[in-house]
Amino acid sequence: MSTTPVEKPLVAYFSMEIGLDPGMPTYAGGLGVLAGDTVRTAADIRLPLVAVTLLYRGGHFFQRLDARGAQSEEPVKWIVEDFLEPLEARAEVEIEGRRVRIRAWRYRLTGESGFQVPVYFLDTDLGENSEWDRTLTGTLYGGDLHYRLCQELLLGIGGVRMLRALGYRKIGRYHLNEGHAALLVVGLLEEERTAGDGPVTAEMVDAVRHRCIFTTHTPVPAGHDQFPSDMARKVLGERYWSWLRTCGQETLLNMTALALHCSRYVNGVAMKHGEVSQSLFPGYPVHSITNGVHAATWVAPSFQRLFDRHVPDWRRDPLTLRYAVGIAGAEIWAAHLGAKRRLIEFINHECNSGLDVNLLTIGFARRAATYKRLTLLFHDPERLKAIAQRAGRFQLVFAGKAHPHDEGGKELIRQVHRFREALAGHVPVVYLANYDMVLARILCAGVDVWLNTPLPPHEASGTSGMKAAMNGVPSLSVLDGWWIEGHVEGVTGWSIGDRVEACLEPKGDMDACHAAALYDKLEQQVAPCFYHDRDRFIGIMRHTIAINGSFFNTHRMIAQYMNDAYSVIDSYFGKVMPS
Ligand SMILES: *Cc1c(COP(=O)(O)O)cnc(C)c1O
Repeated sequence: MSTTPVEKPLVAYFSMEIGLDPGMPTYAGGLGVLAGDTVRTAADIRLPLVAVTLLYRGGHFFQRLDARGAQSEEPVKWIVEDFLEPLEARAEVEIEGRRVRIRAWRYRLTGESGFQVPVYFLDTDLGENSEWDRTLTGTLYGGDLHYRLCQELLLGIGGVRMLRALGYRKIGRYHLNEGHAALLVVGLLEEERTAGDGPVTAEMVDAVRHRCIFTTHTPVPAGHDQFPSDMARKVLGERYWSWLRTCGQETLLNMTALALHCSRYVNGVAMKHGEVSQSLFPGYPVHSITNGVHAATWVAPSFQRLFDRHVPDWRRDPLTLRYAVGIAGAEIWAAHLGAKRRLIEFINHECNSGLDVNLLTIGFARRAATYKRLTLLFHDPERLKAIAQRAGRFQLVFAGKAHPHDEGGKELIRQVHRFREALAGHVPVVYLANYDMVLARILCAGVDVWLNTPLPPHEASGTSGMKAAMNGVPSLSVLDGWWIEGHVEGVTGWSIGDRVEACLEPKGDMDACHAAALYDKLEQQVAPCFYHDRDRFIGIMRHTIAINGSFFNTHRMIAQYMNDAYSVIDSYFGKVMPS
């Protein structure tokens, strides 16, 4: 077998989804894109990290939309061998008493300075496995609860065993990117137990805890995976189930609770999300490390050229985007027009929509989950038409997939299509199908304003507004997630409503309240600034890059993980990684 690119990893990063290459459908949304950006940054800064995930031969799904916005899903077709290198190593797990063999495929991600980080994709599609077991690495977030538990067993226990089979003996830290990976603690406990069949002790759990870091990603209790205990017993077997009881699992297997119990450091993905998570899990200290995005991945070509001229170190050190305060307005606007033309030409070519590059263009794209409130902007279509008449015309670009089982999300997509008809002739509306990283790159950079309307406090962080900020695109957003930290009114963008509490006065409907606030901002601030005070608008773009681009990036984020979570200083002095 060829030599491993990282001999002694400091960190093993486990994630159910990782968005590495736009051609590989191994991610569904923000979580996977964040994981990809994290790995890209690790490679840039030469952090010895290895990542583990599952393969997904059918991806998440390919979205088709008919004329009325009805979504249908198809498996994504892709050629695994075109992207990944097959490895000979094999590992094995037991699922419901059956032996399931696992193989791994490797992706080598090369950073700015040539350093490589390997990502291992686990795959059960092997002749020696049963037909059903072969489908376990078929679809991301497909299937039922039982299928999901089997996948999480593969990721956690199978992942640890595969790392050993690949020759990785000493790994300093195990980073659980969301609770999906929590069963890796079973894999580690297995190694803590010396010989025999004795019980798992508190000391063994402590030893595992010393090495685990857990990042939670959703403030919604229903978003945390849990499995009935009889299912968990059946899938994992009596022995492992008894170990999990030592780790506090009694009536349910709750992946978040398991991860909390077995991690030395726990964090949410923005300040507010850390606080909300702390109140959900009062027994554990919960910290905050705000997400970021990988600058070189998300900056459009026209802005790359601009930054190369003015802040040449920005790829290696995106903190230097702070110096964008010195870039002339005319150059920022020219770079923006480059990104905007690319988007408008793409849309007109794809959809024959006749969008106009001179009109204020507002973008909204993310998973069509109900809490994101895809249709908030259409709360009062008459008011929207009136704003277009009085304050200046604007055009709207939407994109986003609904989870195949999420009827509420699918209905929202159909509703956007109905509003498109209702607003025809007044406000052009486009819905782009199959939102993915390729589309996100063009879209976040090419619009004039990025709209974000989650129902607080449901947005843990959000990252698409950060991608926009890297390209000087200000946000118009509800104060939730990262925007609470990134928002300076009229300087980096605009808020929709102020605090949640104020919006609930006297006693009301949060949607109506936020919609009214959104219309007021659009009519009185955003459109007038765009059309009648272009210099000020460009000033906002400049601050968006300097204040938010320089901070909401994964280079800053990883530095915080290294300082606060991985404690690399400890490892340097040999406490974690004896040489
Ligand atoms: C960045 C990204 C997301 C996450 O967007 P949020 O604003 O955090 O919801 C989802 N899907 C794709 C394809 C992305 O690129």
